[in-house]
Amino acid sequence: MREEISKKFQEILGENQVICREPMNRHTTFRIGGPADYFLTPESAEEIRAVIGYCREVKLPYFVLGNGSNLLVSDDGFRGAVIQIDHRMQELTVEGCEIRAQAGVLLSKVAATARDHSLTGFEFASGIPGTLGGGVSMNAGAYGGELKDVLVSVRVLDRDLQLRSLPVEELDLGYRHSRIQDEEMIVTDVTLRLDEGRQEDIVSRMNELREARTLKQPLEFPSAGSTFKRPEGYFAGKLIMDAGLAGFCVGDAQVSEKHCGFVINRGSATAGDVCELIERVQETIREKDGVQLEPEIRFLGFD
Ligand SMILES: Cc1cc2nc3c(=O)[nH]c(=O)nc-3n(C[C@H](O)[C@H](O)[C@H](O)COP(=O)(O)OP(=O)(O)OC[C@H]3O[C@@H](n4cnc5c(N)ncnc54)[C@H](O)[C@@H]3O)c2cc1C
Repeated sequence: MREEISKKFQEILGENQVICREPMNRHTTFRIGGPADYFLTPESAEEIRAVIGYCREVKLPYFVLGNGSNLLVSDDGFRGAVIQIDHRMQELTVEGCEIRAQAGVLLSKVAATARDHSLTGFEFASGIPGTLGGGVSMNAGAYGGELKDVLVSVRVLDRDLQLRSLPVEELDLGYRHSRIQDEEMIVTDVTLRLDEGRQEDIVSRMNELREARTLKQPLEFPSAGSTFKRPEGYFAGKLIMDAGLAGFCVGDAQVSEKHCGFVINRGSATAGDVCELIERVQETIREKDGVQLEPEIRFLGFD
């Protein structure tokens, strides 16, 4: 059956866009994760639609991946197809203050393009290591900005695999949440509207934010960014630090000493280590502060 499925994927996509038993630690910023049975890299909305149509036909689970920067994949990997929307879908055009881009474009590239066209409003996202599709799905945000602020509309494949255009008002974007997640839509294209600005101001804001990240975040270690959502009225990192958990380890997974909101991989952490660490931190904060920390990172391949 596996060979038949892989052959069919190759028919739909082309041989070099299908890999079997692909280790997911190659595709996550955590550098953790066992093999995905099929790893697919479509180049268009039509190809995404076709592979998902086939997955549904043969009842094969599938997962849409961006840059893997907010994801923990299980040590056993994923018994299904990972469909990565990446640099193969990275067309980008600028028209006046509007940027239209495919979902696979990196947020950093959008920010650089905006800067080159003296467009302001996207500086906040320049250091977020995800794709535009992942960014919209998560309503990624930093330093007072979020995707919601600059989004005009998205083109998605909906549950019925129909291509639809949805204005930002219909996306129910909230803190690290969107209708895209709830309804398992797939973002294929995004339209953003920015403002005219002065290039030197944009450059200096981007530099300022880069320095702030380098200073405060453990960018020298693999991670998936902030592990927990910000609980209302608190900061997860501060709660964790105040509980004395800075540097706390399970195996090679560690609460970063530089920023307690990050769990880092010190080299050979397993997904099991990260999960246990998350549970231990949650338990401690629940007992000490009566606060339930919810993971911000997404999980793949766990029961
Ligand atoms: C060092 C570091 C710093 C970070 N800083 C920030 C920060 O400041 N602010 C912030 O918000 N996040 C931050 N993150 C987390 C992460 O970069 C963001 O959540 C980012 O938006 C995820 O994008 P991605 O393409 O990597 O998505 P992935 O991790 O690949 O996927 C995340 C979710 O999005 C879904 N998804 C991906 N692509 C699509 C698509 N085309 N259509 C539909 N769904 C899709 C996936 O199914 C999954 O549910 C950081 C991460 C790291 C490692």
